[in-house]
Amino acid sequence: MLLQRIQGNFFPKNYMITQRCGNSDDQGYVFELLSNSHSAKCPHCGKESIRAHSYQDRIVRDLPLFGESVTLLISQQRYFCDNEECEADIFTESSSFVGPYFHFTERCREYMLKVAALMNCESAAKILAYQGIRVSGDTLLNMLRAAGERYQSKVGRKIGVDDWAYRKGQKYGTLICDLETREIIDVLEGRDSETLEKWLQGHREIEVVSRDRASAYARAITEVLPEAVQIADRFHITKNLLEALNDTMKTFIPEVIEVPNAEIEKVSADPVSHTAKKTRKSLNVRLHRYNGAKKSKKSMC
Ligand SMILES: [Zn+2]
Repeated sequence: MLLQRIQGNFFPKNYMITQRCGNSDDQGYVFELLSNSHSAKCPHCGKESIRAHSYQDRIVRDLPLFGESVTLLISQQRYFCDNEECEADIFTESSSFVGPYFHFTERCREYMLKVAALMNCESAAKILAYQGIRVSGDTLLNMLRAAGERYQSKVGRKIGVDDWAYRKGQKYGTLICDLETREIIDVLEGRDSETLEKWLQGHREIEVVSRDRASAYARAITEVLPEAVQIADRFHITKNLLEALNDTMKTFIPEVIEVPNAEIEKVSADPVSHTAKKTRKSLNVRLHRYNGAKKSKKSMC
């Protein structure tokens, strides 16, 4: 009864669930599906055939169930093509449920592509693995490329890239922002050239990248987006300018400046300096009185 309900609701009607192998820690849920079709159209010539030849077995991953992975052992019907003009003698029935040569069902592929389009492929692979879909970041990237514009994420054409520290001196990440909406688009683990390169490969529509002046990001952008305009952002230019200025000043001004004793005595005797000392002393006395008043008020409450 349960199998019938699963079959009607979750799998195409031309497949019969012949056995449910249950689940284990290693395999998750496994379903065996057998095609019960009686005819199919040849994908080469379009002629319908009713002459069955054999079954082709495939192992395909489906959407996870209750957080566990789902594997389908599908037996697809093969038919003879009786059209003498057709180049194919035998063909396998096609199905909108699972495309030819794919290792995932269409609905599973759709879900994986949507997740991958929202973030970088390496992060998507980790999230999908947590949900029971095991796939590498490289495979996701290839899938995104093959899928074309339909799954392009809504990343703007102008982005800002900078590194940040999970823990200073130990672990760093890369933050990517949309410069027009001022929203964070993605957070990558690592701040090396390869990490940014992988992310940019899924976003070749980007035209402007604002970055720091380190060579790692510059190298990744030049490699993947050679046409993009690279801008050194104002914060880093100012920072670099101040550092350069500081280094230059150090070459002119010695670290220790010796002041002759006669000069020190002269400053001590200066009436202006004396007045400043008196003002500071008066301020300290007033502050001391104010703190004393606050304490006594507290003790009254
Ligand atoms: Zn044919």
